Amino acid sequence: MNEPTLLVHTCCGLCLAAIVDPLRRFGRFTVYFYNPNIQPLLEFRRRAKSVHVLAEQQRLDAIVDERYDAKAFLGSVPWDRPQRCLACYRMRLRATAALAAEKGFSAFTTTLLASGHQDHEAVRRIGREEAARHGLRFYEEDWRPLAARGHEEAKRRGLYRQQYCGCLFSEQERFEGPRPRREAGTRLHGYRGASETESAEGGGET
Ligand code: SF4
Repeated sequence: MNEPTLLVHTCCGLCLAAIVDPLRRFGRFTVYFYNPNIQPLLEFRRRAKSVHVLAEQQRLDAIVDERYDAKAFLGSVPWDRPQRCLACYRMRLRATAALAAEKGFSAFTTTLLASGHQDHEAVRRIGREEAARHGLRFYEEDWRPLAARGHEEAKRRGLYRQQYCGCLFSEQERFEGPRPRREAGTRLHGYRGASETESAEGGGET
């Protein structure tokens, strides 16, 4: 059986850097940056640029949607987790599935599966549902063990490394309140993402 032609929804250069090598077994694949959830504008541009830069360095085919519309995102998702994150996954994977179908790919996947901060069960479920709407395959693999490698690669390549998940709410959740105490000799790392709160099945996330 032929390997599927793959469209890779890509949230940022950091997560893409983690999984470029395993993705190469698909032969040529295409990166798709579509993340209307990222705010504010300069943060959005930094992440889009990191995908441009990595795609150029690695000679990857890439489609980068650089339209920024915070009002549209904030007006179309619930504002509290977990429903907000479920709607956010849905929005991005729905658009990816539609583009994959339009352009003749047979499968799609997402770099969200390389992040330890996302709700993997929800991402996989929504990915399968959106794939089924178009007769596509959602390629699912647990790439979380490669996350540390993504950080190292991003550092080595000078790619932007974000400090929070993406939306304004997640920026507030990451930074408000007392700063976490740093023990001597340790690094602060990671951000509070969806996975810390989620187990709910997503009613109303679409
Ligand atoms: S916290 Fe992350 S996954 Fe959840 S809505 Fe915000 S950007 Fe999307």
